[in-house]
Amino acid sequence: MRKSVLIKYGELALKGLNRPHFEALLLRSLKRVLAPFGGFDYYTAQSTAVLHLKDENADLEAVKAAVSKVFGIVNFSFAYELPKDIDSVKAAVEETIGDELRAAKTFKVNAKRSDKAFPLNSPRICDEIGGHILSLYPHLKADMFDPDVVVTVEIRDQSAFLRAGDNKGAGGMPTGSNGKGLLLISGGIDSPVAGYMMAKRGMYVDAVHFFSYPYTSEMAKEKVITLCRKLSEYEGRTCLNIVNFTEIQENIRDFCPEELSTVILRRSMMRIATKIAKANNISCLISGESLGQVASQTLAAMTCTEAATDIPIFKPLIGFDKTDIVAIARKIDTFETSILPYEDCCTVFTPRHPKTRPTEAEVLEAEKNVDFAALEEKAFSSCEFMRLMPESETV
Ligand code: ATP
Ligand code: MG
Repeated sequence: MRKSVLIKYGELALKGLNRPHFEALLLRSLKRVLAPFGGFDYYTAQSTAVLHLKDENADLEAVKAAVSKVFGIVNFSFAYELPKDIDSVKAAVEETIGDELRAAKTFKVNAKRSDKAFPLNSPRICDEIGGHILSLYPHLKADMFDPDVVVTVEIRDQSAFLRAGDNKGAGGMPTGSNGKGLLLISGGIDSPVAGYMMAKRGMYVDAVHFFSYPYTSEMAKEKVITLCRKLSEYEGRTCLNIVNFTEIQENIRDFCPEELSTVILRRSMMRIATKIAKANNISCLISGESLGQVASQTLAAMTCTEAATDIPIFKPLIGFDKTDIVAIARKIDTFETSILPYEDCCTVFTPRHPKTRPTEAEVLEAEKNVDFAALEEKAFSSCEFMRLMPESETV
């Protein structure tokens, strides 16, 4: 009997001929997160990867925490791999899942038979194993709707698998399967969530942060570093570019119309972010905008902002309400950091009456007052670069 981790794929099960490529990416992520547990042997079959951890005494709670951050997995479980006959499965119940059954009051048996040549069909497997469990643990009651423990017996091509309970996976697509994007990260609630959403779809996410020292503090920068480190837990690393934006902001304040200053500032951010993206072979930008949330996120303002770049800007939160965004921020543990009260450069020198319907023509006219090309080149070429790793992997 071998203890294994059964990894069930999400959408990549549907990938046809490209599936080996997606599987390889998923396994690469698993190797990274399971390296601290001594690695694993594995085989893949029928939309599932079966892993055997090299360290048989690995702390399963820690393994669970690690696997639950790997994108591309719908569901995973710790299962016992057994010979493919019903008596072997029965004989293993007490030793393998006895603790869970003793602690429960109610249970249910699920059977899945992907090997249709197996002599018992699924209802018969449920009857046999359910009856056996009741004879071993007479205190238990069967409950089909809300059981304390779900026992699953899977009859697969090579072996039978027995387990008590499943874990929800992170979903999405394997890291590295969908290109690379550059997240504009502010230190607020929205942008880390936007980065997570794109990372979940398989995109490698790098980040750029604009800061305006001394108008924004060193603490605001530290906050963004902490957020990027949290995001790196999903992908193994996050590269952060930090751009000094002070001179550009002062020029906008001094020489551009106040009511257009926010959209002009955001266009400048987009142009610098585009330079960074192109220099790093990154093909899109990512922002945390949500339609109508603030004056700079009206349709007209976003249209003006987007016109400043020639690469796509992905806005995964565009249709989300703040409450939905906060719920994800809590889930991915960025919320508490995001609400620390440090200024963002977008909130210094904010106009009293920002124009909610700016036109590109008037913005282009106003931008003539400042030599943006020179200032942006200077900000780009002096940008600071950091490669951030998960806290658990830093020495
Ligand atoms: P967030 O909660 O992400 O700060 P927000 O609701 O405060 O968003 P804005 O301040 O208008 O909205 O910013 C909109 C988007 O612009 C942010 O989600 C982020 O992608 C980007 N952004 C804002 N400030 C910065 C910054 N200092 N550096 C990099 N990107 C920024
Ligand atoms: Mg903000």
